[in-house]
Amino acid sequence: MRKKIVAGNWKMNLDKSSSEHLVKEILESTQEKKDIQIVLSPPFIYLEQVVKDCVSRPDVLIAAQNCSAYDNGAFTGEVSTNMLKSIGVDYVIIGHSERRQFFSESNDVLMNKISLSLSNNLKVIFCCGEDINQREKDLHFEIIEDQLKSTVFKLSANDFSKIVIAYEPIWAIGTGKTATSDQAQEMHGFIRSLITNNYNKDISDNTTILYGGSCKPSNAKAIFSEDDIDGGLIGGASLKSADFTSIISSI
Ligand code: PEP
Repeated sequence: MRKKIVAGNWKMNLDKSSSEHLVKEILESTQEKKDIQIVLSPPFIYLEQVVKDCVSRPDVLIAAQNCSAYDNGAFTGEVSTNMLKSIGVDYVIIGHSERRQFFSESNDVLMNKISLSLSNNLKVIFCCGEDINQREKDLHFEIIEDQLKSTVFKLSANDFSKIVIAYEPIWAIGTGKTATSDQAQEMHGFIRSLITNNYNKDISDNTTILYGGSCKPSNAKAIFSEDDIDGGLIGGASLKSADFTSIISSI
């Protein structure tokens, strides 16, 4: 059975003490449940502390928001997957639209990051999503298929089983404009059918597919109740413990 996941992507927000405070509040207001995994994704600089703070909660795993596309070596300013693994990080978020847009990350770069993450035993949350022009031109299915075929669908079945997909329509990220639960389910069902075709039904049934894009307490329940939606990747609402824990309890 596939895992339900609610992941909070803090992006480049919070100072050290507010980060510690947020983790404390989240841990206090949630309790371990067998079938739900909580993932916290703070900026690099807080990762090691958050790993330590969550060590007594095996249901709370930690994700880096990025990793280098290179292995250890002379790459000033970079953080390698090997380093992330060595401090106890579990996941890396790869392919977020902000990384594709503001840091020009191509499919080749994403593929390097995925391969390095997997070879260092880190799991991957791989983001895909169309922009508003593509949606309005009815190209969204084509775009998502192309993003997956150019990256994660190149993996072996064994490697693909370590990937969580996050469908994040770019027009819904940080805009307050959420995909309707019908729109999200339609795309999640489509992604699951692509996984069946590319691998097999067993792998597709076991792949966690998250929705991301202005998910908040008021819409989480409706979104998470859809058959092919296995949780969420939460941006803005993951910075407030009350909102984030309310989203977690909506699953
Ligand atoms: C995100 O950036 O992954 C995200 C889903 O952001 P928000 O929830 O703020 O739309």
